[in-house]
Amino acid sequence: MSEGQLVIISGFSGVGKGTVVKKIIEKYDDCVVSVSATTRDPRPGEKEGVHYFYKTREEFKQMIEDDKFLEYAEFVGNLYGTPKDFVEKSIEEGKNVILEIEVQGTLKVKEEAPDAKLIFVLPPSAEALKDRLVGRGSESTEVIRQRLLRAAEETEFMDYYDYYVVNGVVEDCAKDIKDIIDDNFNNKLDESFIKKIKEDIKAFSKGV
Ligand code: 5GP
Repeated sequence: MSEGQLVIISGFSGVGKGTVVKKIIEKYDDCVVSVSATTRDPRPGEKEGVHYFYKTREEFKQMIEDDKFLEYAEFVGNLYGTPKDFVEKSIEEGKNVILEIEVQGTLKVKEEAPDAKLIFVLPPSAEALKDRLVGRGSESTEVIRQRLLRAAEETEFMDYYDYYVVNGVVEDCAKDIKDIIDDNFNNKLDESFIKKIKEDIKAFSKGV
């Protein structure tokens, strides 16, 4: 059996990465998602072992010491990490493993696994991103502000990614990602669209 691929999906907070990844897992049984550990509190409706493994800072630090992570990073005040065992086992079993992680972790994984496919999910517009972040209703205004500021910082890392996809319609975005995994992607985005999103997000973050 041939080994599976490592596929990294990143994107600004609120872009709907989680929903897209869920769709991919439901539709394509050669794909699995890695469940991360985090020190952030569960959002309403989130479940232990499904969305994250929720850890205290002490537990997380112990996992770092025990070399349990493929990568980990701090994001807006909380720690997030990818447990190593599941990823290694699934790739050996021929599954394509999706990591839904932020940009610093992506760069670390890329160093260890240069063949990993790096995909950045974009919103249809910066306006749509802001609406989704606010509409989620689970975070305070201060957290939303910090996440928008972080999004502006993340625009600087977008050039490291191999592919960009837009999450307008979830099914279409999931299909684009599957096409990338299958080396069948020809939906390349316009440079000017990418440039505009970057500029608009930076402008938004200054106004919050
Ligand atoms: P959220 O709190 O919105 O679930 O996630 C915040 C950010 O952390 C998102 O960009 C998400 O992709 C990222 N993230 C989730 N799990 C991991 C992980 O294991 N490692 C890293 N580096 N980032 C992660």
